[in-house]
Amino acid sequence: MRSNLPPLMIAGPDEPHALDNIPIRMRPDHADVTCEHCRGRGAWNELLHLDSMRCRLAICPECDGHGWKARDGTRMISDVVMRNGHAAWIRRHVPPPPILVSHQNVDEDRVMLELEAA
Ligand SMILES: [Zn+2]
Repeated sequence: MRSNLPPLMIAGPDEPHALDNIPIRMRPDHADVTCEHCRGRGAWNELLHLDSMRCRLAICPECDGHGWKARDGTRMISDVVMRNGHAAWIRRHVPPPPILVSHQNVDEDRVMLELEAA
């Protein structure tokens, strides 16, 4: 039976109902701290039907859906390698992506003041 209620569009994990019905994920062996962005869930409801709780999930970009992160900031990615003639899943630690700064909009005087204050 279909409902006439429109689905709820949710912009991020801090909005109401964003984490409804999403369990906290088990800690993987590489991780030390809970992802504060998704609060350990690895995803949030991006689109939610409140009457049936059908949803479309958004994967957390901070923890890549693991719900946990390494304390040293490295990210874990899954990969496939050939081992003894068979494909095998492995996990790789990779450094976090660099923060890209556009040089067109940078106020250099402000950056220098912030660097001197740090
Ligand atoms: Zn997360």
